[in-house]
Amino acid sequence: MSFGKCRFCDSPLEHTFADLGMSPVSNAFLKREQLNLKEPFYPLHAYVCGACLLVQLEQFESPDAIFNDEYAYFSSFSDSWLKHAKEYVDEMIRRFGFDPSSFVVEIASNDGYLLQYFVEKKIPVLGVEPSANVAEAARKKGVDTLVKFFGVNTAKELAAKGRKADLLLGNNVLAHVPDLNDFVAGMKILLKPGGVITMEFPHLLRLMRENQFDTIYHEHFSYFSFLTVEKVFARHGLTLFDVQPLSTHGGSLRIFAKHAEDRSNAITNAVIALLAEERGANLDKLATYDEFAEKVRITKRKLLQFLIQAKEGGKSVAAYGAPAKGNTLLNYCGVRTDFIDYAVDRSPHKQGMFLPGTHIPIFKPEHIFETKPDYLLILPWNLKEEIVQQMSGIRTWGGTEVAVIA
Ligand SMILES: [Zn+2]
Repeated sequence: MSFGKCRFCDSPLEHTFADLGMSPVSNAFLKREQLNLKEPFYPLHAYVCGACLLVQLEQFESPDAIFNDEYAYFSSFSDSWLKHAKEYVDEMIRRFGFDPSSFVVEIASNDGYLLQYFVEKKIPVLGVEPSANVAEAARKKGVDTLVKFFGVNTAKELAAKGRKADLLLGNNVLAHVPDLNDFVAGMKILLKPGGVITMEFPHLLRLMRENQFDTIYHEHFSYFSFLTVEKVFARHGLTLFDVQPLSTHGGSLRIFAKHAEDRSNAITNAVIALLAEERGANLDKLATYDEFAEKVRITKRKLLQFLIQAKEGGKSVAAYGAPAKGNTLLNYCGVRTDFIDYAVDRSPHKQGMFLPGTHIPIFKPEHIFETKPDYLLILPWNLKEEIVQQMSGIRTWGGTEVAVIA
């Protein structure tokens, strides 16, 4: 039973979607000298609102504490993400005809990984980014950036200066905002008449269908179906007129919104079809969400069964990857070095560190070839194909089997 209220409609939160126990913040990797210090754990309990069906975490700490610069993430370090950004920019220009007289605003613009491609086309941009050091990296790329959290106040300040947006976008920010209504109300204020909003976020339908409960972590406050996100936007005078499925983050949506009073941009068949698909999957019924809680517990038992069998048979197990989702899974299941000897990760920032909570050490991928474990458990399941290929060398010594539990 929660003491919280729905961040959208204010109803009391009474229904559990997934209770993952107590967990450290997922990206709080530890150095060796931190292993003997106390480590903060917070409840990781997702609820579904019985009234509006928004899946959400209770707020448990101020966002400043989570999103401090220590955890700053530079988007430009990922090639596939840059490619995704460039394709998006080309598509928006082609479809909506943005040109040097247009104005593009990105919320949570990070290091300018996306806006730089509008700058290349001489289209004026503004990034809004709360983290000062990533904003500085954006400015170096020539991307004008305001260091602020976005909401009604920031939107009003910009609108008062005549800086309303023809295109207002945000990738992987909607799910992360604690005050959802203030955020969406701010977008309504900042959008020019006739302007377009696009937002990308992981799709709850995919999370539920594919049992991706390990994508639940503290930084991620809301988990949207298309049905609920449409309700949220409608309440603030915005209409969703198109939607595209994306493969990012295990399955995301890109939604397109306009002012409710805007007669341009007719509602596409994709909108009608997705609403029908979600109703077909019973996402409009509370019971569907109640069932998910049991699926999560079944997965925990399956993983433990696999690990117990492996260890009783005298086998060794290593983990591939140290993503945030791996930390959710391992902490929820209580799996430490008693089951998993070590993890490997390609990121040099993680090598030599320890996983939060479980204190499993992280090595370079080559460590696998030196130690030849009996099992390799893949934690970032969304990259499974890629990793199986990279690790194809392990087949040459015959022993190691690749395991993915879902
Ligand atoms: Zn609600």
